[in-house]
Amino acid sequence: MSRSARGRRPWRSAIVLSAALAIIAFALAGCGGGDDSGAPGAERPVRALATFSILGDMVRLVGGDRVEVTTLVGADGDAHVFEPSPRDGVALARADVIVENGLGFEPWLDELVRSAGARGERVVATAGVTPRRIGRELDPHAWQDVRNAMAMTRAVRDGLARVDPDGAAGYRSRAAGLLAELRDLDREVAAQIAAIPPERRRLVTDHDAFGYLADRYGLEVIGTVVGSGTTEGAEPSAGDLARLVRRIRDAGVPTVFAENIINPATTREVARAAGVRLGERLYSDALGAADGPAGTYIDMMRHNVRVLREGLGR
Ligand SMILES: [Zn+2]
Repeated sequence: MSRSARGRRPWRSAIVLSAALAIIAFALAGCGGGDDSGAPGAERPVRALATFSILGDMVRLVGGDRVEVTTLVGADGDAHVFEPSPRDGVALARADVIVENGLGFEPWLDELVRSAGARGERVVATAGVTPRRIGRELDPHAWQDVRNAMAMTRAVRDGLARVDPDGAAGYRSRAAGLLAELRDLDREVAAQIAAIPPERRRLVTDHDAFGYLADRYGLEVIGTVVGSGTTEGAEPSAGDLARLVRRIRDAGVPTVFAENIINPATTREVARAAGVRLGERLYSDALGAADGPAGTYIDMMRHNVRVLREGLGR
């Protein structure tokens, strides 16, 4: 299976390679002069690097024209097991501001920053979030509670203003617009989930990515196929899957959901064994393609609650 084949720390060797090649790429590009001079924001765009697509969307919306955004882990990508390439090291080294989720979501980032010699301002988007835990680990999937996405938007706004103070008024006004939309979205998500009968608000997904959603909007996580908050090296045993099937039946879960970042094969087997439906895919840790139903954070949340309502509701 693909999950176990990934190994436990695939990114370490990739980072060493990445660092070496980043240095070569820099030497070839004659870096250190040219378009790197000039104040970010005023004489050239602020170069922002976002670690994954959901953050990339927020940085783009708050940054507007002053900011050029590079996203490391793109649409449908899995940040838990990301393997940086040489190009990622170069992008990181060039960034004026590096925006990360935090809460252990990007275990590869510190080493990549070090090896690439990146000196951009670090912004931890979830700094203002009250974290939940999965066992003893922090749960990184904060964006599944829209109020946390608002806190992340504020962190992005303040981080951009630190590296580009002249742009601060623009960042404030664009962030205010986004925050107003997110406030409406939070109400909309709450209303959609509230329309599902309480005894059917029961969630089974690939990995434990929806705890914040469940806590905020009143769902109960019955179980997950992978059985943890990361997708890294977490192949379930036959016994794990049998226990999950039993829990699904006992709880009367009508539908289980696969995710966009994970091969749905095991979840399909679980649904078949439990005799329940496999719902449409949920977007968990990444946006979908730009022209699809979940190309932005707001569209992603709307898509997910529609899928939940159709899968769980009557
Ligand atoms: Zn995850």
